[in-house]
Amino acid sequence: MKRSREIILLSHCILNANSKVEGLSEYSGVLFELTNLIIKRGIGIIQLPCPEMLMYGIKRWGHVKEQFDTPYFREKCRKLIQPIVNQLIDYKNSGYKILGVIGIDGSPSCGVNKTCSGNWGGEFLNNKLLVDKIHNLKFINASGIFIEEMKKIFRENNLSISFTALDETNINGSINKIKEFLDKSKSFEEEM
Ligand code: SF4
Repeated sequence: MKRSREIILLSHCILNANSKVEGLSEYSGVLFELTNLIIKRGIGIIQLPCPEMLMYGIKRWGHVKEQFDTPYFREKCRKLIQPIVNQLIDYKNSGYKILGVIGIDGSPSCGVNKTCSGNWGGEFLNNKLLVDKIHNLKFINASGIFIEEMKKIFRENNLSISFTALDETNINGSINKIKEFLDKSKSFEEEM
């Protein structure tokens, strides 16, 4: 039997840059350098849903974490994650290895180590404070809402799964870190 029995979960836009907010993306469709690395290692891929696309569509504005930090957004995130969790439980119970989740640093939804934060919201036409508001955007060391809910739901289901992220401001550096993450996840699973 040729299957590796190893699986990784990728944020949706790693396999489909078209789901990102218009104007953003450092690659055209699939981030080939990263997926190629995963494919060459014989690892299977589960593509996570894109919560922002499914809630706000392709014409959405860019947001900050605070705008998604609502009970409704969190509830919808949990609904999107549940079918994935069911698969992970089944795979785990059948001896498959879940190597981890690769998110997108900087995203208000899928950030793992870094997300964007700011005092955004409200009507912006004729808003003299608009430029100030845009400029109060900052990156903070925290996860996005979708990843926060994913971590919670994994814990609730006794799924011990590690997280790492792609940082589009440094794609090559990120890919090197992800390589190390995959090596570590593999040796961790072999020890268990
Ligand atoms: S980072 Fe997450 S929410 Fe943003 S486009 Fe990618 S998958 Fe969608």
